[in-house]
Amino acid sequence: MKIYLNGQLVSKEDATVSVFDHGLLYGDGVFEGIRIYSGKCFLLDEHIERLYESARAIRLEIPIDEQEMEKAINETVAANELTDGYIRLVVTRGSGSLGLDIRRTSDPQVIIIADKISLYPPELYEQGLKIITASTLRNHPQALSPRIKSLNYLNNILAKIEGTDAGCLEALMMNHKGEVAECTGDNIFIVKNGVLRTPSTDAGILDGITRRAVIRLAREAGLTVEEVTLTRHDIYVCDECFLTGSAAEVIAVIELDGRPIGDGKPGEITKDLKERFVKLTRS
Ligand code: PMP
Repeated sequence: MKIYLNGQLVSKEDATVSVFDHGLLYGDGVFEGIRIYSGKCFLLDEHIERLYESARAIRLEIPIDEQEMEKAINETVAANELTDGYIRLVVTRGSGSLGLDIRRTSDPQVIIIADKISLYPPELYEQGLKIITASTLRNHPQALSPRIKSLNYLNNILAKIEGTDAGCLEALMMNHKGEVAECTGDNIFIVKNGVLRTPSTDAGILDGITRRAVIRLAREAGLTVEEVTLTRHDIYVCDECFLTGSAAEVIAVIELDGRPIGDGKPGEITKDLKERFVKLTRS
């Protein structure tokens, strides 16, 4: 495996960063997770744009520009001869003294890992997922905006632990207002009376790139899509529910907090959107 590290393709063993890197010491940095389908990065421009926006939001200057980043990613994919896989793109603040001051850091580290993808077990794409509501609230947007894809994922990890403790692979997170936000690593959609609904980015969520792609696909298919406030009640009484994410793609949710959603099976609109997503990514 070849890892891109600051302009060089190096072996896995040589891909190391300092223990003084603020990415490690404070979770100070940003990242992206990107899918490779048939040797091509899916919606790469959107991922690069989000990475640079996350970096800007935390006042992190990425040492290379967007075009150079795109080239570096494509070279890493080619060097690893991957046709289907996953890119983890990471930019850390760089190493510095033991203290929060970003002015005392230097050398932001640009890391690109191209690897195989680890998905939910295949049968869950047919059967759907059972999820619970986590008691851990999504970060308050005025504390740390969930729109920043930062290296500090503890908020999501704490909610994910609640999920796995309950035997679920995903967990629903509410925002500080008690509204539905998103899952720990996926965005959430529901279908009610043929209308597709999902929380808006104002709910304090990551502006998911798969979410955007699914909204576009649904509108092309003639569905009404609404970005609205959702409560847990809306999910309990909806007809269908599904999650989206670069790793997860589109996966049905069939149970929340032990309550079946709809008839307890993946719904027809979910299945149709999943098929359209597969066509889009594999054509
Ligand atoms: N929400 C969170 C918290 C995430 O970490 C992710 C990405 N894993 C998503 C949503 C989905 O975003 P995307 O479709 O851009 O992968």
